[in-house]
Amino acid sequence: MQCHLGIDDTDSQAGGCTTYIASLIIEKLGKLGAQFTDYPNLIRLNPNIPYKTRGNAAIALRFKVPAPEKAFAAAKWILRNSLLPTDPLNQKPEPGLVLFIGDRIPSMLRIFSQEALQTVLSISRARDLIKQLHLRSFSTNGGRGLIGAVAAIGNPLNEDHTFELICYRHPKNWGFLRKIGKASVFEMDSVFRSSTFNNSDPKSSRILIAPRGPDPVLLGIRGETPSSLMNAIRMLDLDEQVQGYVIYRSNQGTSEHLQTLKGLQPHEAGSVRGTVMDHPRIERGGHVFFELSTKLGSLKCAAYEPSDSLRQKVLLLEKGDRVQVGGGIRPASSTDALVLNLEFLLVEECIPVYRTFNPLCLVCGGSMTSMGYRQGLRCRKCRARVPPIPKLRVTQPRNIAPGFYLPPPRSQRHLTKPIKRFGKERRRPYRRLLEAWYGNVSSL
Ligand code: ATP
Repeated sequence: MQCHLGIDDTDSQAGGCTTYIASLIIEKLGKLGAQFTDYPNLIRLNPNIPYKTRGNAAIALRFKVPAPEKAFAAAKWILRNSLLPTDPLNQKPEPGLVLFIGDRIPSMLRIFSQEALQTVLSISRARDLIKQLHLRSFSTNGGRGLIGAVAAIGNPLNEDHTFELICYRHPKNWGFLRKIGKASVFEMDSVFRSSTFNNSDPKSSRILIAPRGPDPVLLGIRGETPSSLMNAIRMLDLDEQVQGYVIYRSNQGTSEHLQTLKGLQPHEAGSVRGTVMDHPRIERGGHVFFELSTKLGSLKCAAYEPSDSLRQKVLLLEKGDRVQVGGGIRPASSTDALVLNLEFLLVEECIPVYRTFNPLCLVCGGSMTSMGYRQGLRCRKCRARVPPIPKLRVTQPRNIAPGFYLPPPRSQRHLTKPIKRFGKERRRPYRRLLEAWYGNVSSL
């Protein structure tokens, strides 16, 4: 029978990373004779959850093993012994470890996982599921991580998915500057442009494959196939010791969290169609806001300053335009209603915009002004008069066309589907394991 081991909430702002703990567990399971049936699944959940450390990631390992109980005990031991000490000011990790044994993922788990992508779930719901399905579990410090651990098991990535190759640093380097040759990243990016994504940010020339914090991750390359990632990493100049690497299968870059919203609840993620109700306006901090009339009611939408090119597009919207927007809902404050923070803008229809003006004077070509209601026009220059005539109307050019708009790569969520992935969506799971899907640097 197949084992599904879910892991979450093992790190804090002080350091650590759930994928790193997963990499240690993978190594141990390999030694216990586990046969992996899939790449480890790196499942991103609702990115608007307030208690996340960074990108709200959870992990599911899927394997067959002679003694599942022993495997669970080994994973629990690693988890317990790898938690970093936290200072009292930092939020403590609330780790959760869950084991489901079975060849089919029960629908209750799948539904929980779908909801974890868009809504906010309670720890008690995760605990109820664990009880109902007789799952093996372990948690400490409140166990919020049980939510992510259960949700990761419940998402077998049967539809669109991507891959990420993550390299881990040697512990002696944690907290120090990452030594990655910048030029080699740009070169790799240009060679593997069609099979990898979000390696760098073109406008700011920032490298996006390396995190900036004190965590154990040296870098992660995201892309369409495990083999392209292996080839891509070989192009990089790495001037520090790589402790190990793992290739993950993931819902990153799929926009799986932006399904149609069913309501407008704080911290939820999703998308909705609507009609622009006013001309977008710039407010304090350079952020742009507009009102959208949707079937869920009127919704204030925001494109924040870091969303750069998306913000520029939003400014070109006009009252009456038909759009679809996707993002996360910021709770109402004492001064503001709920706001949808834009992750994408799909312009479906741009309404024509007209400019009306009085015709020019037939005598001297000067501009004409109205003399009052039904009084006709008078030339400002030569004072010639004409009887009332209709104003002329010309169509104004619109500087925005129907289409899909995203913020620049540096401001995109892990889950956001980059434009270059459109048309590359996978319809079926790809679980064929490369021989060296994890290992130490010698296998690279
Ligand atoms: P990292 O990416 O470095 O692993 P993180 O950003 O994933 O960190 P965590 O430390 O794992 O953050 O914290 C996220 C917490 O939110 C976890 O306890 C997880 O179980 C919980 N969580 C995830 N999704 C939801 C959800 N939809 N509703 C409620 N809680 C959730």
